[in-house]
Amino acid sequence: DRWIEVTGLHKTYRARRSEPTHALSDVTFTVRRGEFVSVVGPSGCGKTTLLKILAGIVSRSQGTVRVAGRDVTGPLPEVGMVFQTPTLLPWRTVLQNVMVPVEVRKLDAPVYRERAERLLAMVGLDGFEGRYPHELSGGMQQRAGICRALVHDPAVLLMDEPFGALDALTRESMNVELLRIWRESGQTVVFVTHSIPEAVFLCDRVVVLSPRPGRIAEIVDIGLERP
Ligand code: ADP
Ligand code: ADP
Repeated sequence: DRWIEVTGLHKTYRARRSEPTHALSDVTFTVRRGEFVSVVGPSGCGKTTLLKILAGIVSRSQGTVRVAGRDVTGPLPEVGMVFQTPTLLPWRTVLQNVMVPVEVRKLDAPVYRERAERLLAMVGLDGFEGRYPHELSGGMQQRAGICRALVHDPAVLLMDEPFGALDALTRESMNVELLRIWRESGQTVVFVTHSIPEAVFLCDRVVVLSPRPGRIAEIVDIGLERP
């Protein structure tokens, strides 16, 4: 039932000509299957580092990290990640961008095309399937990037301030949409945000990191009944 297990995690960045940076110190927490956990804390406390270690794209210095029952030594196929800024391929349409994870994993395209179209409609991008990224606003591109991270239904979804670039109103409506998508899919989600209200609104538990080096200051159970 423990889908993410982080035990005694330390991360020190070492550059040749500068002092080492201690980014994370003795971080321990678990996430159950289907749980939605937010990570909050001041800038520089290691939130992005923690997410990238879970994604297998940054190495750890000490400790153990297990996702979906496996030791993380590189990117796992059951993990999807949304980055802070959109990274769509400019020569592919919106729908073709969203379908990239399906193609890479050689999944059944017609089945997932339907899912891709449904996700795009949920984030207000119906009618834009055949457009190219440069024809969309930054916020719309970011929403397409969120659909791309969700299309192959990854068991674990990692999101690094996915709404950072959106205005307050779009941000709020995205939260509602995201909550709906998440409830429907039963995904396990780790969500990094600066916004405490957003964390409380979206998630089951909040992991609060202290300033650098990030340590767990508190883990808060939201414990709300979901409508
Ligand atoms: P947050 O996401 O909470 O803002 P980060 O994980 O981005 O924090 O950064 C944590 C600390 O690690 C910061 O002091 C940052 O400067 C440092 N850091 C992040 N990435 C690197 C890197 N590639 N090399 C050296 N230091 C880094
Ligand atoms: P966002 O908040 O997503 O960055 P904008 O404030 O730029 O979006 O645009 C608000 C709305 O205007 C969008 O949700 C979309 O409906 C419409 N819009 C923006 N840019 C375009 C475009 N290039 N083509 C068609 N509609 C657009």
